[in-house]
Amino acid sequence: MSLAENLDLIQQRMRAACRRAGRAEDSVLLLAVSKTHSADAIEAMVNCGQVFFGESKIQEARAKIPLCPGKSRWHFIGHLQSNKVREAIEFFETIQSVDSLSLAGEISKRCIQAAKTMPILLEVNVAGEAGKFGYKPEALLRELKEIAALPRVEIQGLMAVPPYSTDAEKSRPYFRRLRELKDGCGKILGAGLLHLSMGMSGDFEVAIEEGATIVRIGTALFGERRRANLAKQNFEN
Ligand SMILES: *Cc1c(COP(=O)(O)O)cnc(C)c1O
Repeated sequence: MSLAENLDLIQQRMRAACRRAGRAEDSVLLLAVSKTHSADAIEAMVNCGQVFFGESKIQEARAKIPLCPGKSRWHFIGHLQSNKVREAIEFFETIQSVDSLSLAGEISKRCIQAAKTMPILLEVNVAGEAGKFGYKPEALLRELKEIAALPRVEIQGLMAVPPYSTDAEKSRPYFRRLRELKDGCGKILGAGLLHLSMGMSGDFEVAIEEGATIVRIGTALFGERRRANLAKQNFEN
């Protein structure tokens, strides 16, 4: 299938999931996860009308984003180290993967210097998996007000990657838990949060049924990520 056909099919499936859930068909943003894929592939996607793209490594973003069409807009979705925050602010309009007060503080500091405001999502380790990035729910609730008080960062919602499974239904309880946590955050902050970023190629329809407002889809749009892609593009560290 061509990229255009992949995109069309994903959009159809997203609309159908919205209808099943009684939601407006345009209530979910498609973030095309382009990691390991070339600027040419991204340009082809932009020519099909796709606007929002996600990358998970600063090193790759730095090499690739300047080669992509100006119409493309970028969210950072990977683990972000403090020493890369300055560049993250340069290339990305949203950082979806904030998982500590110190990282949020660094983003705030760099945004003050750059006279920018950064929308952020807080990443939650929703299944408490060992070795996985993201806030524990209790820690998030504890630090939420302090993050919200930081200048020039704007908490827009939560993001999570549930445990890998080939059965989309296995993700449903985790998506539900993230939605409940978002409601809890809204109560603490006194205002509801806008976004729930959840759902990937294998489980985005279930995520939409559970309230996702952003789905992050790579493989089902661009095809498999191969190490050959990485080597060819010289994006390896
Ligand atoms: C790679 C990645 C995705 C996309 O995964 P697919 O299964 O290829 O759709 C989504 N979210 C994050 C955080 C990722 O790193």
